[in-house]
Amino acid sequence: MDEKLRIESRLAQIGSQEDPATGAINYPIYNATAFRHPRLGQSTGFDYIRTKNPTRSVLEEAVAELESGDAAFACSSGMAALTTVFALFGQGDHLVVSLDLYGGTYRLLERILSKYGISASYVDTNDLDGLEASRRPNTKAVFIETPTNPLMMITDIEAVCTWSRRHGLLTIVDNTLLTPFFQRPLELGADIIVHSATKYLGGHNDVLAGLIVTKGTELSAEMAILHNSLGAVLAPNDSYQLMKGMKTLALRMERHESNALALARYLLEHPAIAEVFHPGLPDHPGYDIQKRQSSGNTGIFSFKVKDAGYVEPLLRHIRLIAFAESLGGVESLMTYPAVQTHADIPVEIRDAVGVDDRLLRFSVGIEHADDLIADLGQALEAARTELEEASAGTASAAE
Ligand SMILES: *Cc1c(COP(=O)(O)O)cnc(C)c1O
Repeated sequence: MDEKLRIESRLAQIGSQEDPATGAINYPIYNATAFRHPRLGQSTGFDYIRTKNPTRSVLEEAVAELESGDAAFACSSGMAALTTVFALFGQGDHLVVSLDLYGGTYRLLERILSKYGISASYVDTNDLDGLEASRRPNTKAVFIETPTNPLMMITDIEAVCTWSRRHGLLTIVDNTLLTPFFQRPLELGADIIVHSATKYLGGHNDVLAGLIVTKGTELSAEMAILHNSLGAVLAPNDSYQLMKGMKTLALRMERHESNALALARYLLEHPAIAEVFHPGLPDHPGYDIQKRQSSGNTGIFSFKVKDAGYVEPLLRHIRLIAFAESLGGVESLMTYPAVQTHADIPVEIRDAVGVDDRLLRFSVGIEHADDLIADLGQALEAARTELEEASAGTASAAE
């Protein structure tokens, strides 16, 4: 497609000019697992579904272009994408990884990859001295999430890439929370992007998918071998579903961003709330870096209630907002990281970053901000009343 088109146009047009035979506006779902060869030694470019499928290829080409990469690989989940990327490493290799990490990635590294002799150090990747201190002779790559989830810590991607290039390390970025609409780490020097496309790219809480994007011919060729060999590839129906979601990414991200900021500002003023973690608020420590390296903010943020006693009634009283364990969809979801997404991370690490029993994560959907504020407001009020009644009850019982 025309490279000069703006990202909104490229998103809306994914796959729409790829089927000249029929002119289909939406690229068809090719469910074929095998492709007829015209004759010995000839191929249409498609042989067997795991290696290449037309529907998946259209998705992959669009994603490579959106992320400014050389190749993209669609996987059956974000975890499948991460597993495929980590298969670049082997016995004796060491990785430096963002401290406030997605729980599933931590579990993959510690429960599975450790068995293959791959080790990881968890550090604040925005502290270059700390990065340097964690580097070993066998370090092969730096893996970052920015913003992190749930604490929204920001890493300076360009600074990390400069440092890792100097030491011959790969830089891998999990770009799930911002998507290429707001942030393109390959343009800032990264080598590999990973996505849980289950989140914003799919956007409707209805498809499980992952993506890998690579920069460089050699790395792209190596990743193609891993993708095909491990076989955790995305099915044609899901590839279609994901493309359909991505067509509205620009509109959704703009609304997610403005809604999340509105809700964060509301909670900042609320008497029951102790802290709000949102990189779009000017007193957030990562505000300047975030503004420089991204063109917008994600739709998730987290906050701490003053009293852990608020958590249970709050989650019981929210109505429009669902108490559920994901992010990035059009529907607003609230998560309790300490017992859900981050349960597999040891308490010491959780405490070090601040994932405690007062922290809630909010994936703000595209509903009207006023309705979300009203729902949160009534749930906080109901929680406050219950807490007061409970403490009055304890006080009278003690008398
Ligand atoms: C959800 C998520 C993953 C895992 O992706 P799945 O699609 O659930 O397998 C990885 N990284 C981040 C940041 C995520 O939010």
